[in-house]
Amino acid sequence: MPVLEILKFPDPKLKSKSLPVKKIDDNLCQLVRDMAETMYAAPGVGLAAPQVGHLIRVAVIDVTPANQPKNLLVLINPEIVSTEGECTWEEGCLSVPDYNEEIKRKETVTVRCQDLEGKTKEVTGEGLLAIALQHEIDHLNGVLFIDHISSLKRALYKRKLKKEKKEKQEGKGQ
Ligand SMILES: [Zn+2]
Repeated sequence: MPVLEILKFPDPKLKSKSLPVKKIDDNLCQLVRDMAETMYAAPGVGLAAPQVGHLIRVAVIDVTPANQPKNLLVLINPEIVSTEGECTWEEGCLSVPDYNEEIKRKETVTVRCQDLEGKTKEVTGEGLLAIALQHEIDHLNGVLFIDHISSLKRALYKRKLKKEKKEKQEGKGQ
């Protein structure tokens, strides 16, 4: 079974806005299966289609702890319809390796989306699920969690990346 390659910052696809899904077909179902597998293998609690190079509004989430049965949430064309409260949560992202930062988010969110049968459903999440929903929907709009931090912190992160890249290249040269 294929596990898809996860694009990493600063890949331009991660900055692009994804298009709505118009037709749920076999290709889409296969992509969702591959995305779920990629997320579990990473391991991560969420993965959005643009992270694997597909600019369409699809994401998968599973926030169940590893020792419990899986509970995969498939989100097609998700949109936030209501929110409540605010919180701060330390986030990371499979596309932004080795970096975590506290981000201000809504505490509870309700999302309307379609499932793989094309049925419209609503999902309300709090805690980690609320964070994952907001984080993945951000991806569909070309927004990364590091876009929510201060420009100073982002500059420091970019400097760290540059340094690591340079070290890797120097390592190769030896
Ligand atoms: Zn992410």
